[in-house]
Amino acid sequence: MAVTKLKNYIDGEWVESESTEIGNITCSATGEMIAEVPYSTAKEVDQAVNAAQEAFEAWRTTPPLARARYFFRLKDAFEENFEDISKTLTTELGKAIDEARGEVRRMIENVEHCTGVTTMQCGYTIEDIARGIDCAGHRQPLGVFACIPPYNFPAMVPWWFLPYAVVTGNTYLVKPSEQVPMTQTKIFEVIDDVGFPNGVINMVHGSKDVVNGILDNPNIQGVSFVGSTPTAKYIYKRCGETGKRVQSLGGAKNIVAVMPDANLEASMPSLITSFFGCAGQRCLSGSILVPVGDNADDFINKYVERVKAMKIGDPLNEDVDMGPVVSEEHKKKVLGYIEKGIEEGAELILDGRNCQVEGYPDGYYVGPTIFDHVTPDMTIAKDEIFGPVVSIVRVKTLDEAIELANSRGFANAACIYTQDGGAVRKFKYNVKPSMIGINIGIAAPMSFFPFGGAGESFFGDIKGHGQEIFQFFTDTKVLIERWF
Ligand code: NAD
Repeated sequence: MAVTKLKNYIDGEWVESESTEIGNITCSATGEMIAEVPYSTAKEVDQAVNAAQEAFEAWRTTPPLARARYFFRLKDAFEENFEDISKTLTTELGKAIDEARGEVRRMIENVEHCTGVTTMQCGYTIEDIARGIDCAGHRQPLGVFACIPPYNFPAMVPWWFLPYAVVTGNTYLVKPSEQVPMTQTKIFEVIDDVGFPNGVINMVHGSKDVVNGILDNPNIQGVSFVGSTPTAKYIYKRCGETGKRVQSLGGAKNIVAVMPDANLEASMPSLITSFFGCAGQRCLSGSILVPVGDNADDFINKYVERVKAMKIGDPLNEDVDMGPVVSEEHKKKVLGYIEKGIEEGAELILDGRNCQVEGYPDGYYVGPTIFDHVTPDMTIAKDEIFGPVVSIVRVKTLDEAIELANSRGFANAACIYTQDGGAVRKFKYNVKPSMIGINIGIAAPMSFFPFGGAGESFFGDIKGHGQEIFQFFTDTKVLIERWF
C-alpha cells in the first residue's frame, strides 16, 4: 500500500503541516506502514481557529434550516462513501469490518439527529412575567468549538459533537487521534466535496502540542474530549482554568452480572460481543464478568466453549469475529496485564498470549483471554485493560454484584442478564454507572439519547449527543422587554 503523508484541513483547503515531527501509521493486521501523520504545531492550531473564527459571523446568520441542508447533503455523501470509510477504519484500527460498518452507521445517525435543529434550537418565551413585561430566551451559538477524540472509535466519536455544534451555528476544529488519523481524513474528503463554507469545519492532526494549542487558544469556547481518565481530568481542569465549556469523557471498567435464572442461550451472542468486540477496546467493553449464585461452573464452561469458537483473523474478512489491537505498543500493554493477573493469583482458563494468525505474523493479535477466580482487589479487576481479557469475579448475591460495580471508581456502564424484574429494578436503581443494559450486553445509547458515564468515567454535566447536547453548544440569551 502506498504511504501518504496526511494533510490538515484549514479554511476549506488541504494544507501540508510545517512540522518535522511525524508519526507512523501501520495496518494493525499486517504491521505494514500505511501513512504518516504530522504532529502539527500550536501555530497551525491558531491558523485553523482563526479561520473558524472568521467564518463564524456568516455561518451563525445562515438560517438554521439552511445549515441543516448541508447535513442532509452530507448524509447522502456519507452513504455513498460508507464502505470506503469503514474499510479505512478497519485497516488502521483492526476492528472487524462489520463492526466498523456499525460505527459508521452510528456516526451517520448523529448527522440525521442534528437536522432536527429547527426544533432543538428553539428557545422559549412567556408573556406577562410582570404586568406588560414579556420574557424570551434565545439559544445563540458561541463561536469556535473543538473535539479531541480517542483512538478506538475514529469515525464516530467526533460526530457525537461536531454536527450539533455546527448545525446550531458554531464553527469547528477536530484533532483526530494520532494513532488512527486516516479515517477522519477520509471523512473530511467527503466534507470537502459537500462544500461547507470555508472555515466552518477544520481538522488539524497531531498530539499533545495540538491539544495544548486548543486549550490555550482564547477563541475556543468549548471542548468535547473523549479518552482515558487521566487525560480527561487534565482537559477538564485546564478548561476550567481558561474558562471554556467542557464535556470530558474518560475510561471504564464495566461489569456484566449474570443471574442464575438468565437465559444463557439467548444471552450468549451479546455476552461475547460485549467483551470481545473491537478486541475489548471499547469504553463500553465488558471487563468483569460476574456470575451470581452458587452454581457458576456450568455457565462458565459454556461461555469458554463459545469464546473458543470465535474466529480471529484479518478484520477485513467478513467471517472474522475479532481482529488485532491497535498497535504493537498496546499489544504489549495488554500482555503485561495478563502477566499481572497470573502473578496476582487469578486462574488463567483461556490463554490468548500466543495468538498466531496464519499469514499475518506481524499483526498485533492478542487472543481471547479469560481469568477465573479474580478477586475485586486484583489489578486486573481494577485497571482498564482495554483488550480481549475477561476477569471473572464470582459472587453469591446481587448485592455483591452491585457493590462490585459501585467500587471500581470508573462508572461508565453495567449490564445484568436475568428474567427477574425485581432483580432488574434493584440493579438499575442502585448501580452508579449511568449506561445500563438489561439482557442486551453493554449497550451504546443511540444519537438521540445522551452518551456518557459517571464517577471517574465522566467529568462535566452535559454528555455526548442526546437532546441536551444542543444546550452545550448554545447560550440562552434572555430578553426581558417592556414597551411604553
Ligand atoms: P488517550 O487519553 O490516550 O487519548 C485521547 C486523546 O487525548 C487523543 O486525541 C490524544 O492525542 C490526546 N492526549 C493523550 N494524552 C494527552 C496528554 N497527556 N495531553 C494532552 N492530550 C493528550 O486515550 P486513547 O488511548 O486514545 O483512548 C482510549 C481511552 O478512551 C480508554 O480509556 C477508553 O475507555 C476511553 N474512551 C471513553 C469513551 C467514553 O465514552 N467514556 C469512549 C471511547 C473511548
